[in-house]
This record gives sequence, structure tokens and C-alpha cells, in this order.
Amino acid sequence: MWLSIRSRLLTRDRLSRLGMSTETSCCLCQSGEETHLHLFFQCSFSRECLSRLMQWMDCRTQHNDLHQLVNWIGRNYKGSRLKRQLYRAVVSALAYRIWQARNDMLWNQNRISADSIVREVRYVVKNRIQFVGRMSSFDKEWIDAL
Ligand SMILES: [Zn+2]
Repeated sequence: MWLSIRSRLLTRDRLSRLGMSTETSCCLCQSGEETHLHLFFQCSFSRECLSRLMQWMDCRTQHNDLHQLVNWIGRNYKGSRLKRQLYRAVVSALAYRIWQARNDMLWNQNRISADSIVREVRYVVKNRIQFVGRMSSFDKEWIDAL
């Protein structure tokens, strides 16, 4: 019990110290103020991941703001249901992974490459999307080829 209280205090201490020293700058690209808007996806690092994943899915939207992107997928995208699910899965997996990468960098000084993030998101999403239920053979081929 004592140990857990102590480690909690240490964590708090670390939090405030690190929080003060990295208050504004983004730890993924070392430039720019770290805001929600910056991380998703104005940041050069997260934007690179996003554009590579967009290319992978053959998705040509110009949106690179998380909010606009989610809106576009939900309302304005006119393609197949499967692609919509795929886009949605990629955007949410990427946002989650970027946030994890940011924390890992901030707290553990552990830097992950854009390559690894893109690879992980592709892997997770491809596995997830194969279990969305009935799929036409055309859709299935398309997913298999990804
Ligand atoms: Zn950044």
C-alpha cells in the first residue's frame, strides 16, 4: 500500500515536472504547439501516418482534420459501406495510436517511427474488417489485396 501511494506521488511529481517543461511543444514533431487540432492531424508526424494510410486505402479526401474527416466519412462519402467502415476504422485506430505514441514519447522517451504506426494500424484494421459480417466476393478480394 505504501509503495503504491509513493509511486502515485512520484508519478504526480513527474507529471507536473514534465507537464511544465513540455507544456506547449509537440513531442512527436518537436515543432508546433501541442493541441488537439495539432495532433489530429496538423502535426507533420501524424499527418505523414495519415496520408500513408489514406494512400493504402485509396482514399482521396483532402480533409486532414479529425473532426472534418469523421464528418466526411459519416455524411459525405458516397462509396461502399465496406470502405466507409474501413475509413472509419483506420481513422479511429490511428487517432488512438497517435495518442499512445505521444504518451510513450512524453513519459518514456520512447520514440516510435511513422513506419511502425502505419504498419500496426494496417494490421489491426485489416484483421478487424474481415469480421464485419457478410461481404461480397468483390469486397473480400479487395480487402485481401490490401
Ligand atoms: Zn507535432
